[in-house]
Amino acid sequence: MCSLDRGGGGGALRERFGLENLAVLPIRPAISGRLEATATAPEAAAATDAVVRAVGRQALIRPERPQAKATPPHIELHWSNGRVERVPNRTLRLACSCALCVDEMSRKPVFDPATVPEDIHATELWTIGNYALGVVWAEGHSTNDFPFQMIETLVAEAGK
Ligand SMILES: [Zn+2]
Repeated sequence: MCSLDRGGGGGALRERFGLENLAVLPIRPAISGRLEATATAPEAAAATDAVVRAVGRQALIRPERPQAKATPPHIELHWSNGRVERVPNRTLRLACSCALCVDEMSRKPVFDPATVPEDIHATELWTIGNYALGVVWAEGHSTNDFPFQMIETLVAEAGK
């Protein structure tokens, strides 16, 4: 993720999606209007170059996507270096932060965890680029974006 430094909006995106902030682009009010008005401004070209460089750097840092496997009662991420992250299905399901599960403004859960069965499991898994896992749950809910970084945090917390 790259964010525009207009008051910390990148922090909210980082928290919600678990994305690393690759670059912060300073936006001065005097030129931000021009940036939005035309893509040919020198400032826009410089900003585009900064984003492209940051994305390219990230591709070099973490170019892989893990293999996702449903191994009830867990979901596993298998990395090429042999590392396996194993997260309990229910723990992951309860961490869903989609708009149906979490209030967009307060970031508080809007569903009753008691409605999630103890034996919840995934019926479909897929990876999204090198940053997230998608899951269709047996209860019928779908989570399209569990960032790998967030799953790593859940695994670490479960191990404490
Ligand atoms: Zn959800």
